[in-house]
Amino acid sequence: MRRISIFGSTGSIGQNTVDLLERQGGSEAYDVVCLTGARNIALLAEQAKALRADVAVTAVPDLLDDLKAALSGSGVEAAAGPEALREASARPSDWVMSAIVGSAGLEPGLIAAAHCGTLALANKESLVCAGALLEETCAAHDTRLLPVDSEHSAIFQALQGEDRGALERILLTASGGPFRNLTKAEMRDVTPEQAMAHPNWDMGARISIDSATMFNKALELIEAHVLFDVTPEQIEVVVHPQSIIHSMVGFADGSIMAQLGPSDMRGAIGFALNYPERIKLPLERLDFATLKRLDFMAEDRDRFPALQLARDVMAAGGLTGAVFNAAKEAALDAFIAGQIGFLDMSDLVTYVLDNMGPEASDIQNTVSLEAVLDYDTRARRKAGEWVGAKAPR
Ligand code: NDP
Repeated sequence: MRRISIFGSTGSIGQNTVDLLERQGGSEAYDVVCLTGARNIALLAEQAKALRADVAVTAVPDLLDDLKAALSGSGVEAAAGPEALREASARPSDWVMSAIVGSAGLEPGLIAAAHCGTLALANKESLVCAGALLEETCAAHDTRLLPVDSEHSAIFQALQGEDRGALERILLTASGGPFRNLTKAEMRDVTPEQAMAHPNWDMGARISIDSATMFNKALELIEAHVLFDVTPEQIEVVVHPQSIIHSMVGFADGSIMAQLGPSDMRGAIGFALNYPERIKLPLERLDFATLKRLDFMAEDRDRFPALQLARDVMAAGGLTGAVFNAAKEAALDAFIAGQIGFLDMSDLVTYVLDNMGPEASDIQNTVSLEAVLDYDTRARRKAGEWVGAKAPR
């Protein structure tokens, strides 16, 4: 039986992964090694019992007793805290889903990359912060890295069987988020609740707000640059409000290959879970007569500065991605906490990049996890200074 682990099983990607595993035979078909979560202990215990996992880990040490109580009598081992997460990441698996949100997913993903056959990567932050380190770890351990982000899964699918030398450009589609049609002035006072309401995709709160600022697309630009080994100039962002085309690739002969599907992450997760096979998935089927039209427009770097920042980060290289991501996460925390406004988020990230970018871009060789985490910590501290000077608004 295939051994499976899910890091971040209680989140949006994690729950969709569990749903697919259960539909594909659950504990009868898979040997589930490890499931992890943070605060949602009831769901973590429920999943671990249903899938008969060897171990369930919460990242929050104080919640160990709650987890133990919820798993009592089930035979599932309970563990908590960063060391337990590291130990679980090192348990051999054949397929691991990396779906912890934010840079907290970096270390478990890196450790798992050395102990699993296939790493299905939803945690795009790993590639933004430490792309070279993750790719080298996978190469050293013969681990297959499969993208789970719908855009990158689409690009990966469109490249199947193609001559990579003929790849000319990547067309990364973006819904434009809930504020696609707002002016900058109208965006100034939007609330976290409004920003969380993505028009097409049902996702976790943080990535939904990142979609509204287009920081999510900014991370995806960097992710595509690392994963597909293309220059920043080869990646275009195409705003496509219906989110039906998940992304496209253009070849030297002018042909374009696109991957289409409903806005349901189980498509990309199911592809990674069953690769290289394609099996029947429980997704709605597209009906073009109902869809009628697909719209496209150019990216707007003035209203969405995150896209230009990502291009600056790619040009700078080194550890600038780690600084960018940490500043972005700190800005998101401050926005959710009501300390800064929606438009302040890109100003804050710009400030941190201006201060730390040149130093971070000097570190061009493959670096250690410690170096990445050091820049992450310092960038968050720098962001905190900016927030402190700004708040109360
Ligand atoms: P969610 O916020 O829904 O879930 C995050 C998961 O991580 C939960 O299991 C959560 O536990 C756990 N978690 C939170 N904080 C920590 C921490 N400090 N240490 C360890 N675990 C933690 O996120 P999503 O599922 O939306 O996103 C997960 C990843 O996938 C992100 O990197 C995102 O960018 C990427 N992604 C998501 C997509 C989506 O459709 N949602 C699409 C493409 C990529 P708990 O809930 O128990 O507190």
